[in-house]
Amino acid sequence: MKPSEARGEFTALEQKINGHPLIYLDSAATTLKPRSVVEAVSHFYSYEAANVHRGAHALGDRATENFEATRSCIAEFIGARDVDEIVFTKGTTESINLVAQTWGRRYLRSGDVVILSEMEHHANIVPWQILQQELGFEIKWVPVTESGELNFDTYKGLLDKKVKLVSLTYASNSLGTINDIAKFIAAAKSVGSVTLVDAAQAMTVEAINVRNLGCDFLAFSAHKVYGPFGVGILYGRIEVLSALPPYQGGGAMIAEVTKEKTIFLQPPQRFEAGTPNISGVVAFARAIEFVRELAPDNISRHERGLTELLLQMLADVEGVRLVGNSRSRRNIISFVLDGAHPSDVGQLLNQQGVAVRTGHHCNQPLMNRFGISGTIRVSFGVYNNEHDVEAFMRALMKAREILL
Ligand code: PMP
Repeated sequence: MKPSEARGEFTALEQKINGHPLIYLDSAATTLKPRSVVEAVSHFYSYEAANVHRGAHALGDRATENFEATRSCIAEFIGARDVDEIVFTKGTTESINLVAQTWGRRYLRSGDVVILSEMEHHANIVPWQILQQELGFEIKWVPVTESGELNFDTYKGLLDKKVKLVSLTYASNSLGTINDIAKFIAAAKSVGSVTLVDAAQAMTVEAINVRNLGCDFLAFSAHKVYGPFGVGILYGRIEVLSALPPYQGGGAMIAEVTKEKTIFLQPPQRFEAGTPNISGVVAFARAIEFVRELAPDNISRHERGLTELLLQMLADVEGVRLVGNSRSRRNIISFVLDGAHPSDVGQLLNQQGVAVRTGHHCNQPLMNRFGISGTIRVSFGVYNNEHDVEAFMRALMKAREILL
């Protein structure tokens, strides 16, 4: 299947919104779900709803087999050395919290430094600030340039032996910038720092191989790669994961419990307490298959073409100011319209069936960096086409006419 043929797999696009065909331009918030993913969830609940890792009966065995098959599928997708390096979580947010509460709590001390960037999503800021209040380490920030890129030279100047963790996003969910993350990881490793990559926005913009990247941790959510909500993964290099204490305690993560103590299982089960989102995990594999069939590089090329088309069209609109303008960008454009509040623009677009996101996009430090409260964000998925770009422009011009 080519990206241009994928549209038919998305039933959500068959509906009208406010009397207009849905033009979905909010894939950075979440992608729509292809038929194969929706059917996998439905099939699981219809025929296979049983708990995993209990060895109780045939349905449980089947659920376990499918659940673990997703783990292997993801390990292969991201080039992990070992399936045990893949921990299922609720998503990127929980994955980062898991690292903060296990690795962070074990290794960070007062006097240490954690490096984040100004373009981090709140999911890669707040967990560290919560921990910082308790442990007293310092957070240093990689600045973002006017064009919306991380300043590598300033970053290098921040690196020394006190830096214990560099935790950066692969791609900005507001600006669309794709960072040269391998370069940032290599520099972090040269001072002995552990590295975490927030890949929530990156899994379809580039083929990612964790071994080539050399990161210690990487996190992403299924729902941003055409998969279900409520599930994601944490990749952790096995040597690092094996040394970590549990995240949460409960069933499924223990080898033995006595009144005196608990012996924990090895990773990944050590970090997967309780009944997981089994249908979500099973359907996650269908999403990865969908992406692999199309190939991230092809998806990215398709979306980049649309991004370039829209940038050309926006260049002719008076009052449109791009926020960030990195040439690395593939599928996201953020802008403001002088004299109009982003949320008013968003509402008028919605009235015309066009779905975009407006606001701070969980990037308040980044918005502060640009001196704005929010942007209008257009983000493309594999199902978008040139007709969507044209429909967006018509709707934007109408909104502009009303507001200005
Ligand atoms: N990081 C980035 C860059 C994101 O775009 C998002 C989602 N907007 C997250 C983290 C958090 O992902 P989730 O809400 O799926 O946990």
